[in-house]
Amino acid sequence: MTDHLTPDTPVTRGLPVDLDDATHLIGSSWLPARSKRTIDVVDPCDGTVVARVPRGDAEDVADAVCAASDALPAWRDLSPSRRAALLFRWADLVREHEQAIEELEATEVGRPTGPSPLAGQLVFFAGQADKVHGSTLPSHTPDVLGMTLREPYGVVGVIIPWNAPGPMTVFNAAPAMAAGNTVVLKAAEDAPLTPLYLAKLALQAGIPPGVLNIVTGYGSEAGPALPAHPDIRRISFTGSPVTGAAVMEACARNLTPLHLELGGKSPQILLEDADLARAIPQIVRFITLNSGQVCAAGSRVLVPRALRERVVSELAAGMERVTVGSWRSGPVDMGPLISARQRDRVLDYLRIGREEGAEVVTGGAALTEVPYQDGYFVAPTLFDGVQPEMRIAQEEIFGPVLSVLSYDDEDEAIALSNGTRYGLTSTVWTGDLARAVRFARRVEAGQVSVNTFGSGGPFGAIGAPFGGYRHSGFGRSMGADAVEDWTQVKAVVLNAGS
Ligand code: NAD
Repeated sequence: MTDHLTPDTPVTRGLPVDLDDATHLIGSSWLPARSKRTIDVVDPCDGTVVARVPRGDAEDVADAVCAASDALPAWRDLSPSRRAALLFRWADLVREHEQAIEELEATEVGRPTGPSPLAGQLVFFAGQADKVHGSTLPSHTPDVLGMTLREPYGVVGVIIPWNAPGPMTVFNAAPAMAAGNTVVLKAAEDAPLTPLYLAKLALQAGIPPGVLNIVTGYGSEAGPALPAHPDIRRISFTGSPVTGAAVMEACARNLTPLHLELGGKSPQILLEDADLARAIPQIVRFITLNSGQVCAAGSRVLVPRALRERVVSELAAGMERVTVGSWRSGPVDMGPLISARQRDRVLDYLRIGREEGAEVVTGGAALTEVPYQDGYFVAPTLFDGVQPEMRIAQEEIFGPVLSVLSYDDEDEAIALSNGTRYGLTSTVWTGDLARAVRFARRVEAGQVSVNTFGSGGPFGAIGAPFGGYRHSGFGRSMGADAVEDWTQVKAVVLNAGS
């Protein structure tokens, strides 16, 4: 870091994108925190500081809400097709900088680079901007015309986690903007750079200043300021259930509507006729992708008791083939956890699993030898002999940890699938479409996939809504449902008679 800079100066070092001002974006201004305090952003592959960003608080959030309020009338009233055109231009710029954005996200999260979903998602939401509409209603008399209008809420707040800062920005801010809202987004303290860069590209695309504002800061300081602000008309929160509940309480005080995207404990259900050669590599991929720090990660494998031994052995072999390392060192399958705190949380669960009586088949420890010694690496871990009541079968670990549970019949498989408080995603592996449909109907989850990853994967359906049942949250991001969620319905009744 440059020597003449004081510890209070926001700064970046060696980033793959031009983000000299790693500061709040408020309106058209790049600003340090009013308090002048900063937070270090660390590369989890080696622990080095790559940026220092503002440690925002309620004052900075209030400034951002002002900017979003100023921008609202023009954005809300802009012709929807013009709004769409600006969002399409943003998508184009994101596509142009795709590789650099991937590398930026890799720098702050540690996830190896890969095909980026961002531009495609932006194209989808841009295309929705001029398709937001209400309906006409039947009436008791021919002179009366009833209709509904779908209108934006106004200034809205978005709070995102650190695990996927790019997608979280796009999946939440873009549908809100497409619907005509203006946004104040609070980035996660561990991964604020990708949202800042995406917002920079939005400005370059011609999206008016103030339509997308980014505030960086700690959850305990800048976070509560959003639901507490009286001018915020709706909140979208993505993060852990505990924080989600706190945000819900804060929203209740202002009666602010809320969208919650929380965690998951998603089952990967193998039926007797599953094509294991196809399923096993994808199950391994889906629990090691982003080091398991994925809300939809398939962290529980449910196997017919008769197949257990074979499945465990093939899963173990798959986990052992996963290459782990820094994305900078060449192609790897898996990077580190995002922070020492998250690594220690995962290691805690590995201890808990052993103490509960589950058997570590492979992995089970941090990777500390050269070249891992300065980063936050944990070996892909497979637990066998997991019982449904164990904490490792019930709680979200958010790490590369897979638990195998056995079942005897279809009813037990469904009961196990639905046997946690979560209900985010679920995957069924089978060649029997009738059984697949039965599972799809009976599994309590916001998204069910058959023989694939789900909407996040390379074979995902475009526009599939994403969100939870039960403790995984409510409301939807992605898909047309997400845009609709960012609107409120107004009924208009015209009496054209005398
Ligand atoms: P977290 O709940 O700790 O933090 C999420 C965000 O909330 C961060 O920006 C944080 O600064 C902020 N925050 C913290 N306390 C706050 C408060 N009191 N008021 C307002 N904001 C506050 O979650 P995390 O550790 O960043 O992310 C991991 C969690 O996110 C996991 O549980 C994961 O499943 C979940 N997640 C869910 C989805 C989904 O779509 N369902 C997607 C990604 C992550």
